[in-house]
Amino acid sequence: MPSRQGRSGDIGRTIAEALKCDAPPADHPSMETATFAGVFGAMIGSFLNVVVYRLPRRESLVRPASHCTACGTAIKPYDNIPVVSWLLLRGRCRNCSAPISKRYPLVEAFAALLCVGAVLAGGSSATIALNVAFILLLVPIALIDAEHRIIPNRLTALGAILALAIGTALDPSGEPARLIAGAAAGGALLIAAMAYPGGMGMGDVKLAGVMGLFLGSAVAPAMLVALLAGVLFGALILGRQGAQVARKTAVPFGPFLAFGSLVAIFVGEPLVNLYTTHFLN
Ligand SMILES: [Zn+2]
Repeated sequence: MPSRQGRSGDIGRTIAEALKCDAPPADHPSMETATFAGVFGAMIGSFLNVVVYRLPRRESLVRPASHCTACGTAIKPYDNIPVVSWLLLRGRCRNCSAPISKRYPLVEAFAALLCVGAVLAGGSSATIALNVAFILLLVPIALIDAEHRIIPNRLTALGAILALAIGTALDPSGEPARLIAGAAAGGALLIAAMAYPGGMGMGDVKLAGVMGLFLGSAVAPAMLVALLAGVLFGALILGRQGAQVARKTAVPFGPFLAFGSLVAIFVGEPLVNLYTTHFLN
């Protein structure tokens, strides 16, 4: 992708060569790219807050514009800067001083951090683009499922479209493997959902399919981590609240699938290497 950054990177290497010092490796993300990813993540994170609140309530994502839920005053653009505005306003509405949930700046900061992480983790441009898009999709999916116990079809459908579009555009030769991974992961959870109807829902099955489309073969460690985390969490509830309560506590599986996906994105390769060197020898 010929971009300004690419050219300035070339110039940087030329200068570095002229000065006979170490040029940055070509595939290493620059400071500017990481900063851009952070600002981009925070801005999308700000919109994801709207998605998390409005999508399960079947409200429009664009109208009305952001407003204080207490007094209804429209939020001015300068009071709507991700993270910064919340800190400057000390978490209160400028007009009525009603408290603004900590969740808003936290989601923005978390989205920014994950995007920077995805860029720093490196890989091909296809991998980075797929990871960033997937991360920004996982944030609303995990939060909505944790709160409302649904994974909206609109989010999984958007995920499938994004994964196919980015994958075929940037890495067409890898697309068959991602399609197989998506079918395998979705199929595995479909069997699990049919075997234990009370446990998983069709939203989880669709999410697993989308995970495969984004992650390719890394969907295997992602699913394994999700299952282990889910079982561990279930055991914790069982230990703390007893079997009767635990049996009635339906735990949404989406957040665990999202957690497993993040683990696969950030430490998937070392995890698979660890497994193959220690268990398959
Ligand atoms: Zn207000």
